Amino acid sequence: MSETEHTFTTRGLTKVYGSGEAAVHALRGVDLEIPKGEIVVLLGPSGSGKSTLLNIVGGLDRATDGEAFFEGQNLTAMSDRDLTRYRRDHVGFVFQFYNLMPSLTARENVELVTEIAEDPMDASEALRLVGLTERMDHFPAQMSGGEQQRVAIARAIAKKPTVLFCDEPTGALDSATGRAVLHVLNDVNAKLGATVMIVTHAAATAGMAHRVIHFADGAIRSVETNAHRLSPDEIKW
Ligand code: ADP
Repeated sequence: MSETEHTFTTRGLTKVYGSGEAAVHALRGVDLEIPKGEIVVLLGPSGSGKSTLLNIVGGLDRATDGEAFFEGQNLTAMSDRDLTRYRRDHVGFVFQFYNLMPSLTARENVELVTEIAEDPMDASEALRLVGLTERMDHFPAQMSGGEQQRVAIARAIAKKPTVLFCDEPTGALDSATGRAVLHVLNDVNAKLGATVMIVTHAAATAGMAHRVIHFADGAIRSVETNAHRLSPDEIKW
């Protein structure tokens, strides 16, 4: 497969925080290929570099060395302005804590994104896709954790992102709510064709992935592909 048939490829991707004695080697030369349209789960102990990788390919942080390509475009060589455009046009983020604006309704939180995106779906359509049609005019404080996370997912998918990054998306949720959120991520992948990259401690989540990447100490230890993917309902919590 060529670089343009992958959402991401990286070559020797390296990230060092700090310098001298205090230097932290967060990524130690990562070579990676993420084919388009997959759900990819990154597993590994805390501090092994998973979030650092996500932040670099998501255009939030810069590598110290090596290269990262998005659909063949070299992210590591982009100007800050082009990297901002890349994030705005192609990338959705979902974090463990939902980062919603408390003074805005669900719909208004999603509209923050649809107002600046190039070709967004309607905020109400994004909220329908995550099953929140009935809750659009509620404020975050009037919603459960799972509902707030679904608003955060609606906000991330409303721009029709090429890639959706999720950092511990079910970390703060109970099993039933977490499963509902995983169903939404499955749908986003299947219906919108977005590549979905999930960083998690919850190893069981790997069952629903097309591809599982095991991280240790700033490097990839192994990559597996699932011949048979589990539905979120089959995942043991
Ligand atoms: P993971 O997501 O697997 O828990 P991270 O990518 O967050 O791992 O962190 C990898 C290493 O980089 C850790 O040792 C962490 O402390 C360090 N690190 C991450 N971000 C920073 C930062 N902004 N400044 C200094 N060190 C950092």
